[in-house]
Amino acid sequence: MPQVIDHRGGVWSIEVPIPDNPLGHTLVHLLDTGRGPVLVDTGWDDPSSWDALAAGLDSLGVRIGDIHGVVVTHHHPDHHGLSGQVREASGAWIAMHAADADVVRRTREAEPARWLDYLADKLCRAGAPDEHVAPLRAAREQGRMRTLPGLRAALPDREIVPGELLDLEDRHLRAIWTPGHTPGHVCLHLEEDHPAGLPGHGRLFSGDHLLPGITPHIGLYEDPDDATVTDPLGDYLDSLERIGRLAPAEVLPAHQHAFADAPGRVRELLGHHEERLTGLLDLLAQPLTPWQTAERMEWNRPWEEIPYGSRNIAVSEAEAHLRRLVKLGRAEVLSGTPTTYVAL
Ligand SMILES: [Zn+2]
Ligand SMILES: [Zn+2]
Repeated sequence: MPQVIDHRGGVWSIEVPIPDNPLGHTLVHLLDTGRGPVLVDTGWDDPSSWDALAAGLDSLGVRIGDIHGVVVTHHHPDHHGLSGQVREASGAWIAMHAADADVVRRTREAEPARWLDYLADKLCRAGAPDEHVAPLRAAREQGRMRTLPGLRAALPDREIVPGELLDLEDRHLRAIWTPGHTPGHVCLHLEEDHPAGLPGHGRLFSGDHLLPGITPHIGLYEDPDDATVTDPLGDYLDSLERIGRLAPAEVLPAHQHAFADAPGRVRELLGHHEERLTGLLDLLAQPLTPWQTAERMEWNRPWEEIPYGSRNIAVSEAEAHLRRLVKLGRAEVLSGTPTTYVAL
């Protein structure tokens, strides 16, 4: 049986499974409009996910072919994976923020050898040990590497412009740019009275930006062509404050479940990151590379048990925190390779 929730006021959510992933599922939202149903996100690119989406729609009397448009909160494959297939089956448009559309374009055009070089180089600068970098070099030598997810992700047809209403008949859906989790992540604010009269301002499709029980991964914005030292954690914390001030009556996130009291959840997350930054400062009493920092930070399991790919993600997250401390003037970068940080 498809897991479908009627959120009332012409909004539904459909649980679309993410195979072999502890997150379990993506909540794909369906929004009724004057020109037909519009999806917010689509789910992971897998036949079982596609079947769950189709079955969920079917239980609401909607066929995939009826979909009028797809609004994508961000480019990650658990959100954007099925967008191309939905477009093929329905002729729907796909809308995305320009910064994430750029990521999709880069990933599609990525030259595997160049991407591997970039990753290996980045890990070396982060202080990764040789045995961690070696498999990347070996893959490059042997020409292996056509398994990156997102290689066939769909290019969007429309741009989501921050602050503007989306072009939807009979609905007021405004795009709020919330960079941090990705450079072009957007939340979508349904500026309509809450159907059950909950106090606050409308409802918010929050994607991965604001979730009730987990914190989204904040890493680095990976772009081999851009050497700018970005501050994704700073972006994320700013975006969080913006959503807190918006004070929506209810949040409809892309994972877990709907919840009220967005400002309270925002405060929790701000506190969590403040605590993490403070803990990091203690570690930085001695100079550390991002890799050494990641080894010493707290994760959902001991460092020794974190698999290869997840270590890369953890190092990226550690570096995002280190950069934030530098921007705040609480740490500095020492010259040399690998990059080393120390508390001020
Ligand atoms: Zn995501
Ligand atoms: Zn997600």
